[in-house]
Amino acid sequence: MDWHFANLEYGCAAPLKEVSLPYWNQDDVYGGFGGAHCMIKGGYGTVLDHLFKGIDVRLNHVITEISYEVSDLNEIDGRPKKVRVRTSAGEEFSADAVLITVPLGCLKANTIRFSPALPDWKESSIQRLGFGVLNKVVLEFPNVFWEETVDYFGATAEDSNSRGHCFMFWNVKKTVGAPVLIALVVGKAAVYGQNISSEDHINHALMVLRKLFGESSVPDPVAYVVTNWGLDPFSRGHTPLLQ
Ligand SMILES: Cc1cc2nc3c(=O)[nH]c(=O)nc-3n(C[C@H](O)[C@H](O)[C@H](O)COP(=O)(O)OP(=O)(O)OC[C@H]3O[C@@H](n4cnc5c(N)ncnc54)[C@H](O)[C@@H]3O)c2cc1C
Repeated sequence: MDWHFANLEYGCAAPLKEVSLPYWNQDDVYGGFGGAHCMIKGGYGTVLDHLFKGIDVRLNHVITEISYEVSDLNEIDGRPKKVRVRTSAGEEFSADAVLITVPLGCLKANTIRFSPALPDWKESSIQRLGFGVLNKVVLEFPNVFWEETVDYFGATAEDSNSRGHCFMFWNVKKTVGAPVLIALVVGKAAVYGQNISSEDHINHALMVLRKLFGESSVPDPVAYVVTNWGLDPFSRGHTPLLQ
């Protein structure tokens, strides 16, 4: 059962105790996203590279303030005529309108100052929604030692508290063209895991794999990445959830 609970915690990006019982899966009513799960070769960035063609995109500009003058509203639709955006480097941009797509975690942490302030209904929605944590341990090995045809495989834990610590491994050999596994860290393990080192996460993933495949079959990884989205100042979490 713990494995299945961990799988749900992966879907909700939070320990189950933090998720709303009546509303945790309310998007199912709308059919969720149809079709098969897929992976984009090269990552989401490749989609953006295509969309960016011919558009002036400024990376590495940290927005600190978005403002407009309440005395300068359009008489027809009541919207501001000009919106100003300020960056941490002190630059200022002006536009007819601004679309904000920063993660919910950043809005909850008020990393951008809005002037005038956001309306109460919007601010209270931002604060009432939860923003869960989930992380990944990406390991590149010198060779494939797992069943190459599977998309993923699971591992059960002996202790319920760590049921989400590397409970599932994605085989991304087909997508990235190298012997790479991605281990998922979810639930309580994701919350507590934010405060343990990358090395500890890697050692845990290797311990789980060596239990599954045998000590001598699992070599040390040649490269790794361990995410920590909750502590990333530009994410501050992973997925919105109803608490
Ligand atoms: C671990 C993980 C696994 C995921 N798995 C999947 C999956 O399997 N399938 C799937 O479809 N989706 C998945 N997602 C979700 C997917 O990554 C998001 O749906 C998608 O990236 C959301 O895009 P976005 O543009 O809304 O937000 P983001 O990609 O988070 O982009 C927000 C941008 O805002 C920037 N930003 C934040 N603050 C500021 C600021 N003050 N000034 C300027 N810029 C700022 C950030 O740097 C970032 O570039 C996953 C996400 C994570 C973290």
